[in-house]
Amino acid sequence: MKIHEYQARQLLASYDIPVPSGQLVESVEAAAPAFKAATNGMASPLAVVKAQVHAGGRGKAGFVKLVKTPADAEAAARFMLTNRMKSPQTPPEGLEVKKILVAQAADIAPRQGGGNEEFYLAITTDRATRRNVLIASREGGVEIEQVAHDRPDAILKVPLHPLMGLQGFQARDAAYALGFTGKQVPQAVHIMTRLAKLFVDKDCALAEINPLIITPPTTAHPQGQVMAIDAKFNFDDNGLFRHPDLEAMFDPTEENPAELRAKRFGLSYIALDGTIGCLVNGAGLAMATMDIIKLHGGEPANFLDVGGSASEEAVTEAFSIILSDSRVRGVMVNIFGGIMRCDVIAQGIINAATKHKNPDGSLGFKVPLVVRLEGTNVDAGRKLLADARAQLPTLQPASDLADAAKKVCASVG
Ligand code: ADP
Ligand code: MG
Repeated sequence: MKIHEYQARQLLASYDIPVPSGQLVESVEAAAPAFKAATNGMASPLAVVKAQVHAGGRGKAGFVKLVKTPADAEAAARFMLTNRMKSPQTPPEGLEVKKILVAQAADIAPRQGGGNEEFYLAITTDRATRRNVLIASREGGVEIEQVAHDRPDAILKVPLHPLMGLQGFQARDAAYALGFTGKQVPQAVHIMTRLAKLFVDKDCALAEINPLIITPPTTAHPQGQVMAIDAKFNFDDNGLFRHPDLEAMFDPTEENPAELRAKRFGLSYIALDGTIGCLVNGAGLAMATMDIIKLHGGEPANFLDVGGSASEEAVTEAFSIILSDSRVRGVMVNIFGGIMRCDVIAQGIINAATKHKNPDGSLGFKVPLVVRLEGTNVDAGRKLLADARAQLPTLQPASDLADAAKKVCASVG
């Protein structure tokens, strides 16, 4: 599960990691008052307006804007709420922006030798070493992907002990290696230590601060304050039941509606760009099915694994989800019945054929349907389908996987 930046900031603040204050707005009109609140008391008011979407690369896409007046804040909010945010991390058509963060802009200290004091700091799991790892770089900010690609040596990786986590000496070493000096060091160490604790406490898959900055000197922080101005979290879905506070942060409007619908029925569904809807049991079989469709020149429209023991109701829902995708021009069912029974699948197909309502008001499968069933109760399943030919005019049975792939690819052209 992902959360928005404004929520990530709340989480960081609750772990005593400094972040500038901000306010969430959902309309153009709310931007000016939010600007005033964010910049209240600043000698020269400066705020940052940031689109809240579950994707990065906002800075380069023009969806992070520094503004000096309430009118500019409003203009930036209007732009973001009426344009789709497109970056390498979004689908090609971009994402609709519904929420905006108006935050106090932090002054970022200039760095000797050019640029600003922007760092990258993250904790994630490294599968190669089977440990959590602290990843940090002095070259943080919007170019971090480029840095990682061109100069991997500019990225510091510190493996964390499975029981002791990030240890003091490791955090201090990292802080010095990143170039923090004097009173900045204990601040950086504190942030790393708290982030490492947050990562474990909240069952994170990724906890990332980018950029972590140093402000110019202030009275309270004569050598500058180290603080986070952007953060991103991914949580392990399997750990979510332990964190009602995180579950409450879930924003369904950021999710693909079909994927959400599938989740409610315990189905693993991932929308893809092709034209062949797939219904399969087991993730491995789903992968093989997608491969064989591609081998025969087709493109899968989705990955749908009904799992080992879905109910008839869930299977019916699965077909309905596939048929609701307007790009689907053919459906391939590939079931190897083990615990899942072929007759349950067959009944799901028949239910979908008699109950699923298409946008034009018609019922059931208008597109070609190719079915390959094997395994438990296969005869009962085949009989059910044979008896329901009237409701399934587009049905073609297939003898094996290759036959099914050939038939469905041929039928979508
Ligand atoms: P993204 O990672 O989606 O591009 P960021 O929040 O990291 O978005 O913003 C991109 C850049 O905008 C930052 O690297 C920083 O230079 C600037 N920026 C972002 N937030 C602030 C802020 N609160 N104060 C000053 N500059 C900011
Ligand atoms: Mg960022």
